[in-house]
Amino acid sequence: MTNPLLSDWTGPHRLAPFDAISDEDFAPALEVALAENKAEVDAIAGNPEAPTFANTVEALETSGKALDKVLSVFFSVAGADSNPKREELQRDFSPKLAAHSAEISANKPLFQRIATLWAQKDDLGLDADQARLLYLSHRGFVRSGAALEGEAAERMKAIKGRLATLGTAFTQNLLADEREWFMALSEEDLEGLPGFVVDAARAAGEEKGLDGPAVTLSRSLIVPFLQFSPRRDLRERAFTAWAARGANGGATDNRDIAREILALREERAKLLGYENFAAYKLETEMAGTPERVRDLLMAVWEPAKARALADQQVLEEMMHADGVNGALEAWDWRYYAEKRRKAEHDLDEAALKPYLQLDRMIEASFDCATRLFGLEFTPLDVPLYHADCRAWEVTRKGETVAVFIGDYFARGSKRSGAWCSAMRSQAKLPEVEYPVVINVCNFAKPPKGQPALLSYDDARTLFHEFGHALHQMLSDVTYERVSGTSVARDFAEPPSQLYEHWLEVPEVLEKYATHAETGQPMPRAMLEKVLEAANFDQGFQTVEYVASALVDLEFHDGAPPTDPMAKQAEVLGALGMPKAIVMRHATPQFAHVFSGDGYSSGYYSYMWSEVMDADAFEAFEEAGSAFDPEVAGRLEEFILSKGGSEEADVLYEKFRGRLPGVEALLKGRGLDTAA
Ligand SMILES: [Zn+2]
Repeated sequence: MTNPLLSDWTGPHRLAPFDAISDEDFAPALEVALAENKAEVDAIAGNPEAPTFANTVEALETSGKALDKVLSVFFSVAGADSNPKREELQRDFSPKLAAHSAEISANKPLFQRIATLWAQKDDLGLDADQARLLYLSHRGFVRSGAALEGEAAERMKAIKGRLATLGTAFTQNLLADEREWFMALSEEDLEGLPGFVVDAARAAGEEKGLDGPAVTLSRSLIVPFLQFSPRRDLRERAFTAWAARGANGGATDNRDIAREILALREERAKLLGYENFAAYKLETEMAGTPERVRDLLMAVWEPAKARALADQQVLEEMMHADGVNGALEAWDWRYYAEKRRKAEHDLDEAALKPYLQLDRMIEASFDCATRLFGLEFTPLDVPLYHADCRAWEVTRKGETVAVFIGDYFARGSKRSGAWCSAMRSQAKLPEVEYPVVINVCNFAKPPKGQPALLSYDDARTLFHEFGHALHQMLSDVTYERVSGTSVARDFAEPPSQLYEHWLEVPEVLEKYATHAETGQPMPRAMLEKVLEAANFDQGFQTVEYVASALVDLEFHDGAPPTDPMAKQAEVLGALGMPKAIVMRHATPQFAHVFSGDGYSSGYYSYMWSEVMDADAFEAFEEAGSAFDPEVAGRLEEFILSKGGSEEADVLYEKFRGRLPGVEALLKGRGLDTAA
C-alpha cells in the first residue's frame, strides 16, 4: 500500500488525507522524501548542460515537493497535537533535516552553477520575479559560507558548530537557574495576593515538595507576585534572585558564554566579508543598517524615558504615602503601578468576558476581511488532525482563494502560544496552488453546551494570527520562496499587528461583542475602559524593552566586548537608564540574543513592526474610515499579495507614499504628549 503521506492527495482541495495517516507513516515517508530531494539536488548540480535559470535556480526552487508534503503534516501535528511517539520522531527528524539542508548549502558544484548565473544576471533576460529569486538564492548560499574555500571554510564550520553548542548551553543554564531557586512562603506571606497568585504559589510549593506555598522564578508566577505582594522585603528577595539568573557564578553562569558568542559572531561576519555582525545580520532585514535601527530606538527612547521618570515620581509618592521612605526601587515598580492601575482604570475582566464569545470574534475577524478584501468564508466538512479543528473555504467572487483552518482550544498535546502556518503555500510554479493556512491558539475550552469566552488579550491574539493568515491567503506571487509571510523578519509582524487594530474599531466591537446570555452589545463605557487600559504603564514597558534592544545592537555593531557586563553598564549609563527600571532581558538572561541567532541584533524588530502597523492603520484614519476601500486595495496590492517578492521598504513606500515615521507609534503608546 502506498504511504498516504506520499500518495497523490486527490480529496477536496487536495488537503492531506488526515484520516488515513498514522504515526507509523512519518519515518518511512521522511526517508523516501529526503532521498528524493537529494536525488533532485544532485541531478541539478551534476547537470552536464551549462547552467540556465530554468535548469538550476527554478529547478531547485520547485524541488522537494514530497518533503514539503511530509513536513507540512508532521509539523502541524507535532506542534498542535503531539504525543510521545511524535516527540520521539521530532528528536529523530531534527538532526536529519539540519544535515540535509547543510549538505545542500555546502554543495560546491550547485553553488558554482548559481554563482555563474549571478555573474551573468544582466544578460539572462530575467523578469523581475526571476531576478529576485536568483538574488535570494545566491545571497542565501553566500551568507551560509558556500563561497569560502580551504581554511576559511573549515573555520566557518567550526564556528557554526561551537555557536550551536554555546547557544544550547546558554538556554540550559538559564533554565537550571530558574528551576533551582525558590522562596518558601508562610500562610501569612500570602496576604494581599489575589486568588490566582495564591493558587499558583501553592502549586509551585507542591511541585518543589514543600508543605506550603512558594514563589519560583517562572515568569507567570514572579511577575504577578511582584505586582501584588505588599511585602517589600519578599519582593526584594524575589526580584534580586530573578535579576541574577544566569549570573550566579559556577557552572551555570552565562556571562563568559555571552562573551565567547559575541566574539565568534564577529569572526563569522568578518570571514564573510562584513564589517561586523550587525552589518551581516541586518543586510537581509528591512532596517538594513545599524544606523537605521539606532535612529528608530533613540527616537522612541527619549519620550519613553520622560514618561517613565514622571511615572516614577508618582509611584514614589504613593510609596511614601504608604509609610515607606527612600527611593522607589526596581522591586517596587510593579507593585505601585498595579495599585495605580486599579485606581485609574479598573477594568473588571470577569464582567468583560461574556461579551467576547469565540464564535462571535471569529465572525468579526471574517467580517472585517469581507469588508476590506471581499473575502467570503464557507464552513467545510473535511477530516483534520483533531476533532476541535474547523475549516472554511475562502472565496472571492466565487473563486477559491484559500482554505482556512482554525484550531482554537488549548489541550495537553499542544505547545503553548499561538501561531499561523501554511500547510501549503501559495505559488504559481511548478503549478498554480492556492494556500492552506492554519491558525493555532490556546483558548480555554468551555464545558459542554456552553459558549467559549475569550479575554480581551485572547481576542487580540485571534485577530493577530488572522492577520498573518491574510498575508498567506492573499499572497499572489510566482515562487513559493517569497510567498505569504516569507519576508524579512522585521517585516513579518506588521500585517498581523495591523489587523489587531480592527478589533479596536468601535463599530466592530459594538456589532460582535454581544453578551453570551443577554445578547446585548458591550456598553460604551466598558469599551472605552478596554481601549484605555491598553496604554497603561507604557513608559516602563517601552524603557525596559528599548534598553534591551539598544544593548543588543551595541553588542554587535563594532568590536565584540571583552566584558559584556561592563559594556551593558556603559550603554545603560550613556542612556541615563531610570534607576527603578532594569532591562527586560539583561545579558545573562537574554535568550532572544544568545540562545540562537534568531533575534541577535534583531530584538529591535518588535518595535520596528509596531512603527509600521501604527503608521499603516493611520492611512485608514486619514482616509476617514477603517474600511476605506481604496486604502484596503493598496494594502492588498502592495503588501499582502506581494510577500517577499520585492524589498520591504519598496513595498511599504508604494503602499503609503513614504516610509513610516515614529509619530503614530508614540501616539499609539500614549507617549506623544509631554509627560
Ligand atoms: Zn505574529
